[in-house]
Amino acid sequence: MKAVTRFAPSPTGYIHIGNVRSAIYPYLVAKQTGGTFILRIEDTDQARYVEGATDLIKDTLLWLGLDWDEGPDRGGDHGPYYQTQRKEIYHEWAKKLIASGRAYADPTPSETVAKYREESNKAKKAFLYRNYRPKETPEWKVGMPLRFKSEPKDYDYHDEVYGDLHMGPETQDDIILIKADGLPTYNFAHIVDDATMGVTHVMRGQEYLPSMGNYLELYEAFGLERPKFVHLPHILAPTGNKKLGKRDGAKSANDYRLDGVLPEAMLNFLACLGWNDGTEQELYSKEELIEKFSLARVQRAGARYDEQKLYWINGQWIRRLFEEDARALYERSKDFWPASATNYDDEYKFKIFSIIYDRLKTLGDLKTMTTYFFEDPKVDMDMITTNKALKKLSEHEVCELIHKTITKFQSINEWSTQKLQAALNELLTETEQKPMVLFGLIRLSISFAPFSPALHDTLAVLGKNASLARLNAVITAFARD
Ligand code: GLU
Repeated sequence: MKAVTRFAPSPTGYIHIGNVRSAIYPYLVAKQTGGTFILRIEDTDQARYVEGATDLIKDTLLWLGLDWDEGPDRGGDHGPYYQTQRKEIYHEWAKKLIASGRAYADPTPSETVAKYREESNKAKKAFLYRNYRPKETPEWKVGMPLRFKSEPKDYDYHDEVYGDLHMGPETQDDIILIKADGLPTYNFAHIVDDATMGVTHVMRGQEYLPSMGNYLELYEAFGLERPKFVHLPHILAPTGNKKLGKRDGAKSANDYRLDGVLPEAMLNFLACLGWNDGTEQELYSKEELIEKFSLARVQRAGARYDEQKLYWINGQWIRRLFEEDARALYERSKDFWPASATNYDDEYKFKIFSIIYDRLKTLGDLKTMTTYFFEDPKVDMDMITTNKALKKLSEHEVCELIHKTITKFQSINEWSTQKLQAALNELLTETEQKPMVLFGLIRLSISFAPFSPALHDTLAVLGKNASLARLNAVITAFARD
């Protein structure tokens, strides 16, 4: 069966990581059956509408490679794909319910509704509007809410993740279908949309489970066949038992993108938050996910959000893509170099990239990890004197070691990785120092950075002149002291 799935975000600004996962699973289900993935913008909540949010959603999907088959900018036979543009469709469907006696215009003023609510709260009873149904209901027109006329009963249904479920009559109510402003509620609109768009799998967060009683009643009132229901468990905050929220430090997908997280890694990480294929595999390309994903293996228990895991996966993806096509990955790194790199050519930067890529967690690390390739580092004597391996050395010994290094380096004709490696090993024997001490000192002297790639590689890329100049600068600094 060709699945028709949809991602139906509300353009309210921030795209939470959990929302993004709600796009990935429907995409995978559509693609693995050769079906259709729809993007529908649920913009009926005018109060929460944020300008530009739809563009952010579209950009995020495209960045992740989750292109939609139908929806904004793509068209399709079931449009429009913005709910605010589908008003007539909702009104037409609402009229079917009015005609069958299953919807009524509610003239009750909102203050009175608030009073009813208060009353039932006081009595410690669940507030059910059907207990306050107005006696007289006028003909419906915009300006007055249209409500469903519930006929509560028991419903059994199946959820692809949660299994066989039951909803009792106590959860069904006279929900608002169309608000006074003429726009539909989510509760009503999504049913009309899913039905008219031919959606086969309704996939969304588990927070919609408690409303299923109302939805099942609506499907029945319209005589609609039920789609498959797929409720996705929450992503849990890093600690505790609550749902991941903004406050738990989870950035939006776009923020991670700006930090240099690769879309391949983000897709991989999110798809595996709450799903696995039963093997030890941890890296999946989009194609592999399409092949292997199955709803049956989505875990009911919420998956815990682990940002370190995201960075680990990203590091793995950087390696994988470098090995596949180093130049192509380098091209993708261009926005992430330090400002001082601007005047350097691609050949030089590509060489740096080639020796450092396997230490990067994000492409954004380039900004902090490569500056000494582009500007002379400030000589920081404290970094040498407080270094664990070096602090046993006297000032005299430090200078002597650097002198010997300079002399050795000056004698190298061909400044290559191999020759440098040989020279460094000779120095080790000649000075009778431990690698940690000798190489640690040289490394610090040329970079004054906490990390650098293999010493011979770093020196080779930096070049003979720059390397010697930096070693000399350290001696000068000590002399001045
Ligand atoms: N607009 C709803 C939301 O953003 C979508 C729920 C659904 O996918 O049906 O939560």
